Amino acid sequence: MTLDAAWARRWMTQAAAALADAKDDLTELDRQIGDADHGVNLDRGFRAVVAKLEATPAPDDETVGAVLKLVATTLMSTVGGASGPLYGTAFLRAARVTDRAHLDPPAVIALLEAALEGITARGHATVGEKTMVDAWQPAADAAAAADEGTTREVLAAAARAADAGATATIPLVATKGRASYLGERSAGHEDPGARSTAILLATAVAAVEEP
Ligand code: ADP
Ligand code: MG
Repeated sequence: MTLDAAWARRWMTQAAAALADAKDDLTELDRQIGDADHGVNLDRGFRAVVAKLEATPAPDDETVGAVLKLVATTLMSTVGGASGPLYGTAFLRAARVTDRAHLDPPAVIALLEAALEGITARGHATVGEKTMVDAWQPAADAAAAADEGTTREVLAAAARAADAGATATIPLVATKGRASYLGERSAGHEDPGARSTAILLATAVAAVEEP
């Protein structure tokens, strides 16, 4: 059970498939409190990521960070909207702390914390503002709290927390991003970016191969 570059590549393949499946649901969430493009944006971006990875043969010494850096640059140039630069920065920061062949539990925690820092550096949102930070922050916190576990357990704790964090955005009033234009009317709908974060982290777990 190793989290290596092959895992990162499997993660992206599974993320693209899951986000394609969720495309209409994510777009519907964004229709409620945004401009109905989140599912379309991410589907386009992650399809491009898979195409880019397929066109880039893996060298024998490929690091996790090298994969995540390709993901970052591809997302930045293809997703658009608010979420493109946010996810792009998340993967870019994550790439910087994962320039190694294998991730151990501390490295998984570092990956998640770096991604979160990238998102907050770029978007200046904090927990409770009804954004993807409401999934990433609990994910990073849960990973850090699960540091005695295996890499898979650390990731799984993060994914569960992201899922709960996304659900917990439903009653919140948005104060950042496009949804904030709705003010109080943004309450009662799940934040699309928090939901897509939960999907992304669920596929990170699914991509881990059992020993
Ligand atoms: P846009 O809002 O430009 O149409 P998307 O629909 O692709 O872009 O993405 C919307 C998502 O981006 C929101 O659901 C929210 O999770 C996230 N988001 C928007 N602004 C911010 C921000 N400042 N910080 C963190 N996340 C944000
Ligand atoms: Mg949108």
